[in-house]
Order: sequence, then C-alpha cells, then structure tokens
Amino acid sequence: MPGNSRPTASPEAGARMQPTRTTRLLQTGRPPAGQGPRPVNPPVMRASTVVFDSVAEWRAARQQRQTRQVLSYGARGTQTTFALENALSELEKGHRTQLYPTGLAAATQVLMALLRPGEHLLITDAVYAPVRHFCSTWLPALGVDCEFYAADGHDVAARLRPGKTRMIYAEVPGSLLNDMLDLPALAALARSCGAWLAVDNTWASGWLLNPLTLGADISILAATKYIAGHSDLLLGAAVCNERAYPVLAHFSESTGQTVSPDDAALALRGLRTLELRLERHERNALAVAQWLGRQPAVARVFHPALPDDPGHALWKRDFKGGNGLLAVEFHDPDPGRRDRFVDALECFGIGASWGGFESLAVPIDPAALRSVGAWHGRGSFVRLHVGLESPEDLCQDLMQAIVAAQFTTAPPQPDPDRS
Ligand SMILES: *Cc1c(COP(=O)(O)O)cnc(C)c1O
Repeated sequence: MPGNSRPTASPEAGARMQPTRTTRLLQTGRPPAGQGPRPVNPPVMRASTVVFDSVAEWRAARQQRQTRQVLSYGARGTQTTFALENALSELEKGHRTQLYPTGLAAATQVLMALLRPGEHLLITDAVYAPVRHFCSTWLPALGVDCEFYAADGHDVAARLRPGKTRMIYAEVPGSLLNDMLDLPALAALARSCGAWLAVDNTWASGWLLNPLTLGADISILAATKYIAGHSDLLLGAAVCNERAYPVLAHFSESTGQTVSPDDAALALRGLRTLELRLERHERNALAVAQWLGRQPAVARVFHPALPDDPGHALWKRDFKGGNGLLAVEFHDPDPGRRDRFVDALECFGIGASWGGFESLAVPIDPAALRSVGAWHGRGSFVRLHVGLESPEDLCQDLMQAIVAAQFTTAPPQPDPDRS
C-alpha cells in the first residue's frame, strides 16, 4: 500500500519532506502553521449572516466567491466546511469539492446539474436503490432518457448512443452484491462520446479508490458512511475535476444546498481514523466471510477481496483494500427462516446504512432491484456490515442465529447455467 511506503529521503538540505498519504490524512484540512497559536482542528464556525466593514468589501466577497472559498453568506460555506472540502479534494485527488446534506443529495444533484431534456443516461443496474428510484421516477419527468446497464458493465459499449449519451454513472463495487466494474474502460467509452463519467465511490470512501485518477469526472461520496464513521451524521460530497466543478457549484448554489458546520467538523474528525478503521473493518469482514463460507447453510459470500469472487481481479487491480460490507446467500430460499436468522442476531443491529463502528444486518432481495439480464440468485440474502467488534464474537453470534433460523441446509439441485 502506498500509505505504508517510506517517504523518499531527499539528499538536498532544506528540502521539504513529502508526507505519505497516511500522514496527509492526519494533516489535511487543518489550520495552517505560521500564523500563531491555533487549535489542532478547524473551529466550528456557525453563520448565516456575514457582516462587512464596507460596501466595497461586501462587493469584493460576492465577486470572489465565484472562484474562491471566501466568507460571504453561511449557505456558501464557512471555514469549517471549506476545510472539509479541501481535505476531500486532496484525498480524492480532485480539483474541488461540493458538499451536500446527504450522499443521496450529492448523487441526485450530479444527475440534475449535468443532464438536460433529450439526453441519455447510462446507469448501473447495481446502483444504490434510492438513486435507482430517482432515475426511474424523477429523471424521466425531466425528459432525461435513463437506461440501466448490466452490473458487470459488459453491455455499456453496445448501449452507448453517440451524440445522445451524456453521462455514464457507475457505482463500484455495486450496491448489495459488490459487483465490479472496469472504470478505466468506462472512462474511455465516456470520452469517446463526450459523456461525463460519474462514480459513486462510497464503498471506497475516497481512501481505497480514487476514480478521478482512473478517468472519472466526479467522485460521489456518502460521507455518512465510513468518513463520518460513527453512525451519527449525514453528509454527501461530489469531488470534481476542473470541468465538472463549476457546473455543480452553480447548480448547488441555485438550489440552496448547504452543510452544517457541526457535521463538517464531525466528518473531519472521522476522516483522521478512516485508514485505521477501514483496515480493521476489512480484516473482520474477511474473517467473518471465511467462516460463513464454511457453513453448510451458506451458498455464497459476496466480497471482492475473496479470491473466488468474480470481481476479485478488477478489485485487486484498482483498489487499495476492502471494507466491512458483505452479502451472504443462504441455500434456503425461505424468506421467513432468513428473517428469523436476522432477528436472532445479538451483536448485529438490524438497520440500513453502514460505515459506522458497529455491525449491522438487513434482509435484502437483490432480484427486486435488478432489471438487466437474467438473475441467478436462488437462495435468500442478508447484507452484513461487519463492524469493529471482535470477529470471534461476531462468528459466534452468526452461528447461534443460523441454528435459531432452522435453515434447510440441503443445497438445491445444481443449476447447469450457474458457474
Ligand atoms: C448510503 C449510500 C448513499 C446515500 O447516502 P446518504 O447520506 O444516506 O444519503 C449513496 N450511495 C451509496 C453507495 C450508499 O451506500
């Protein structure tokens, strides 16, 4: 991992050190040195009204805010939100960042700001369900032609409509089942017809993958998840290249998107331990995944870090690590026994969202959220978020819940179509 590589020592006297990204994660977005005593963290600056000493100063701020981070009105940001924007831009190697009150707001604002009536959107079949809902209901009402492509992206080239396709929207790995996509290939296709490539990067949370370095124009983050990391705030971001930022910033201002400075400060606090937490989430998730894979009741475990996962090669090529999200398919298709399994869990809360320190479980029905291609899943499914608890406790909990569920463990008849 680059984060662990040693900084290259410079032989020149007085040369500035080049901190690794592990160190920069702890430094970015903090009050600068050289201006006297200062707190370690940026102060929480709460404001609606900002007052000026002269009309000239007021006018200058309103002019400068088009291109720079200046204090002009609370909705346009304060030093707390500016610090978070800068930290996320650095983390994602972007030009600038637009913040939103939720991850969903970030995704829908990207779609609304960049698409016009008559234009065509290609969006992954494995997209986060509320974004799918937005695309199926509100985008057609705005005249945008919205088409889903297969969760593995194999049909994107065939579905492109040069001159009409204005955006390819990806989420990697895909929601619920962690389907992988080849981002550089999607970026080349988007470029070939002048379309935007927007990537929901919430899974990697800006740390495990940087879509902009692979050719994307925008990286969408639900900072609600691992960046916040403690299940106590909602926040979204779109980290942009130079082409996308002005459009998103203008649309955001026009539609009154803003973020509370308290939430921005909490997100910055969460950021400092992002690498540490992701490492432990991944380690625990792999321990749980390997344990689940040995249980007779289990048909399959979905996590791209597992060597037999169909997306493993792409994940290894593009990602710097994994996280705590996995899905499990039980042989038993009965939703009642599956729900009994979830109800019996004691260490796992029953709840949506994820990325906090704690373990979660929810029953899922991936077939209901897919519209492209044949669906091969035959059992019943549960999505787990593996938290920072002891993996021994988590496996013990899963064991007793499997017993309590009384699954029929006999695997169904082999399906010749299923590899
Ligand atoms: C949770 C999530 C979102 C939305 O985040 P909120 O802050 O809850 O609105 C968007 N995309 C993905 C992939 C998510 O998991």
